[in-house]
Amino acid sequence: MEKSADVVIVGAGVAGLVAARDLVRSGTEVLVLEARDRVGGRLLNGELPGGAPIEVGGQWVGPTQHQALELIGELGLRTYPTYADGEHISEFDATRRHYTGRIPKMNPLVLADIGQTQYRLDRIARQVTATDPWRAPQAEGLDRQTFDTWLRRTARTPGGRNFFRLITEAVFSAEPEDMSALWAAFYVGAAGGLDPLINVVDGAQQDRVVGGSQRIALELAAELGDRVVLDAPVTEIEWQPTAASGVRVTTRGGPTVRARRAVVAVPPPLAARIRYTPGLPGDRDQLVQRMPMGRVIKVNVAYDEPFWRHAGLSGQANSIHRPFGTVFDNTPHDGSCGVLVGFLEGRHADTASRMEPDERRALVIDDLVGYFGPKARNPLAYIERDWAEEEYSRGCYGAFTPPGTLTRFGPALRRPVGPLHWAGTETATRWPGYIDGAAESGHRVANEILPKLS
Ligand SMILES: Cc1cc2nc3c(=O)[nH]c(=O)nc-3n(C[C@H](O)[C@H](O)[C@H](O)COP(=O)(O)OP(=O)(O)OC[C@H]3O[C@@H](n4cnc5c(N)ncnc54)[C@H](O)[C@@H]3O)c2cc1C
Repeated sequence: MEKSADVVIVGAGVAGLVAARDLVRSGTEVLVLEARDRVGGRLLNGELPGGAPIEVGGQWVGPTQHQALELIGELGLRTYPTYADGEHISEFDATRRHYTGRIPKMNPLVLADIGQTQYRLDRIARQVTATDPWRAPQAEGLDRQTFDTWLRRTARTPGGRNFFRLITEAVFSAEPEDMSALWAAFYVGAAGGLDPLINVVDGAQQDRVVGGSQRIALELAAELGDRVVLDAPVTEIEWQPTAASGVRVTTRGGPTVRARRAVVAVPPPLAARIRYTPGLPGDRDQLVQRMPMGRVIKVNVAYDEPFWRHAGLSGQANSIHRPFGTVFDNTPHDGSCGVLVGFLEGRHADTASRMEPDERRALVIDDLVGYFGPKARNPLAYIERDWAEEEYSRGCYGAFTPPGTLTRFGPALRRPVGPLHWAGTETATRWPGYIDGAAESGHRVANEILPKLS
């Protein structure tokens, strides 16, 4: 079956759907081809025992994520705050501590070390421009080393280094030695600093979407109607360097589409799996060969009630000793049960994914009992998702660059190639890796294409 459109969009995640909506509103004929049997990509609602939705993929939004918040508002969706009242639990050294506010209690020397390391990270992050981090004065030096190397030179105490390893796992779902220091600085800068990335109140974990975050994509897709084609994995894009000759996009089992321009709105490792005929310019191809995804297993554990709240606890816990190192209260909006959500990230996801399901569940529950006591032993439901095993995500939360990538190939990240345009959260200049970045990239790519269609 052959179809035609002005613009064909590969991928019905937030980026592809936002681009499609903008283009349609400007009178453009659009077709969105989605590999899965659903829209939303890295956003996905699961179901709790009572039927309430629970986010098994991306979920939180926070202040300064203007593109995401605006989109949520436009779609008529509402947000509500992540539960954060009461004491948080931290295990940043040999002692388990309870604290309120933002700063965990710990050895003052380690706390001072964390403070000076964060100060330096925020300072270099401010100097790395998010639109072209490869042009920063210190880009070469930062891109020649891993974030781990930078941390070893900057953080002076083992406690400080352990803290930043945990933070790296929580923010990037990767290890400090995986990524270049330039990528880390770019990512922190594009979020407005480390605090906005890691905080609940006033940070990226502040709010949730009523009905679950996948509703953002579901509402966008509903507006687009039959312009979104599911079960249509794109296998090949034929194009010509002269943009005027357009594109021919082949899917496995879905339509073949002829269009004037194509938007590839999938994560970089997925973009690298599509066959391009003729092949892409070397810089673009080398770039996507070098942008792996992070690795995370997200686990929601449901109880008949949020029992930790009765004990004066917020449900927030962090540990450098436990694989389930970051936990939050994820009780659904209707309060029908209590939910704790946590993450096996980076190296912990590697190890846990090699376990039998029962063994992995036991590990998670043991860690929850360690944080919250014996009441955590008997959940109503255990809902896990290993995003590295998702054929059309290949990991999460997002892609990152190892050393020597941004400075050598960074300009190819957003630069169109003939009639081919690139979107997706990894191409954003604010909050890359987040829903907000995905929305930004959708708007940007639509603005890039519109003048070229007239
Ligand atoms: C566990 C987890 C937790 C997260 N937490 C948060 C959070 O709290 N807050 C936040 O803001 N962000 C979070 N994120 C990240 C956020 O979900 C993503 O940044 C955002 O959803 C990415 O949107 P996107 O459109 O760029 O890409 P995707 O959502 O990856 O969309 C790409 C789409 O392309 C499709 N596709 C891939 N290959 C092909 C092909 N060959 N042909 C056709 N279609 C194809 C995919 O199926 C997918 O639907 C999290 C992600 C995960 C997984």
